[in-house]
Amino acid sequence: MEQKLFVYNTLFRKKELFEPLSPPHVGIYVCGPTVYSDVHLGNCRTFISFDLIFRYLTHLGYKVRYVRNVTDAGHLEGDGGDEGEDKIEKKAKLAQVEPMEIVQKYTIDFHETMKVFNVLPPSIEPTATGHIIEQIELVQKILAAGFAYEINGSVYFDVEKYSKTHDYGILNRRNLEDMINNTRDLGGQDEKLGKLDFALWIKAKPEHLMKWPSPWSLGFPGWHLECSAMSNKYLGKQFDIHGGGIDLMPTHHTNEIAQSMASCEKIPAKYWIHTNMLTVNGQKMSKSLGNSFLPQQLFTGDHSLLNKGYTPMTVRFFMLQAHYRSTLDFSNEAMEASEKGFKRLLNAISISESLQASATGEIDIAPLRQRCFDAMNDDFNSPVLIAELFEATRVINSVKDGKLKIDAENLSLLRQLMKEFVVDVLGLKNEQLANNDLPKVMDMIVNLRNEAKSNKDYATSDKIRIGLQQIGFQLMDGKEGTSWNKI
Ligand code: AMP
Ligand code: ZN
Repeated sequence: MEQKLFVYNTLFRKKELFEPLSPPHVGIYVCGPTVYSDVHLGNCRTFISFDLIFRYLTHLGYKVRYVRNVTDAGHLEGDGGDEGEDKIEKKAKLAQVEPMEIVQKYTIDFHETMKVFNVLPPSIEPTATGHIIEQIELVQKILAAGFAYEINGSVYFDVEKYSKTHDYGILNRRNLEDMINNTRDLGGQDEKLGKLDFALWIKAKPEHLMKWPSPWSLGFPGWHLECSAMSNKYLGKQFDIHGGGIDLMPTHHTNEIAQSMASCEKIPAKYWIHTNMLTVNGQKMSKSLGNSFLPQQLFTGDHSLLNKGYTPMTVRFFMLQAHYRSTLDFSNEAMEASEKGFKRLLNAISISESLQASATGEIDIAPLRQRCFDAMNDDFNSPVLIAELFEATRVINSVKDGKLKIDAENLSLLRQLMKEFVVDVLGLKNEQLANNDLPKVMDMIVNLRNEAKSNKDYATSDKIRIGLQQIGFQLMDGKEGTSWNKI
């Protein structure tokens, strides 16, 4: 690759040159959503951040295999994810439906939301329930290596024993004593031997709905296990990037590393990338704090915290104006500023299409384009990239106003720059035509064609029909009039 990319690796707390294990292939694993409720805007920020990373790596020419899982079983309510009720089952019982109905509903919701934000689908989207066998095998390996124990049909990871030969706090940089002292005492009903031990396999209580046979009991896997089993299956024992929200780092990712080290003596990923939180008045946006809002509420403006609604691309632009490792505080003022900025950028793109080149020019676009790459090469610094794109916007407006001359080669480079960074890398698209405008527009076109037909202007009516067909719309003439379909 001609570009040198530096990424911040949480494992070493510093920026490192990105050198994939087997270029041009890059393997990324990102912890996906637990599908028990609508994704909120904070969750969306994390997936938009990884979409930026996925898009940029692809843009650089890497062949990326992006695995993002869906947690559809095993995620319990407690802080460590392995105590209390299963989040999905709890919701299913309240709604008096099958857990898998909850999974289905919120998986669809998640996919739709991702699509609205123009987040590309991952290469593989495995589910925990689809990989029970792999998870059982992993538990067997950890047991065989002596780092886990079975009690009453459940299996726990033995953190104290592991810590004798490994650094359990390698990622979260906490020492064992501190972690033990900061964890609450084991309750009377707790079967774990050590306070930091976590569940690999949990014996199901009789009322538990989602359970599978295993060598130890009819039960279900612990939450941390699925990511180790699925990343190993699709990306190998060691892959390039493991990502997730920073809130997953201290426990979930720490336990993933312990599971991989215990079973095959390998830290699963070379680079650990963590995205920071979306906050509201400085507080993490989360369901439990009651300060979260849904993407739909942001689009319609239907929420007490909102002055008005914003389009999905404005929201995406707002998110990308902050670096993924900084917290981003939501406010109406910031959203309004983003709305203006995004419009300016889109305007510049359409102006650039109609600019005329001069025989000789006064500007060289190549350095500006390299500065756009430099921004992204510096740990995916999208705010700096956006500042460079505003520089390009100024150039476009100056050429339009006749204050600056540009030659044909640089004009084409300028157009390419806007397209590659705004559309391909930042994943922003022009949404001036909203979806619900389409029927109105189509009705008008159909009426124009009918007029042409009744005037016996068949050349025009055919031109309309064929033109629509070429862009994916089929007209059907029937007794009731003309209807249309998307093909
Ligand atoms: P969950 O469905 O709760 O497992 O979360 C899915 C992803 O969203 C995880 O990677 C979390 O780290 C991330 N996440 C949760 N809350 C926020 C937030 N307020 N800002 C950014 N990311 C978040
Ligand atoms: Zn995970």
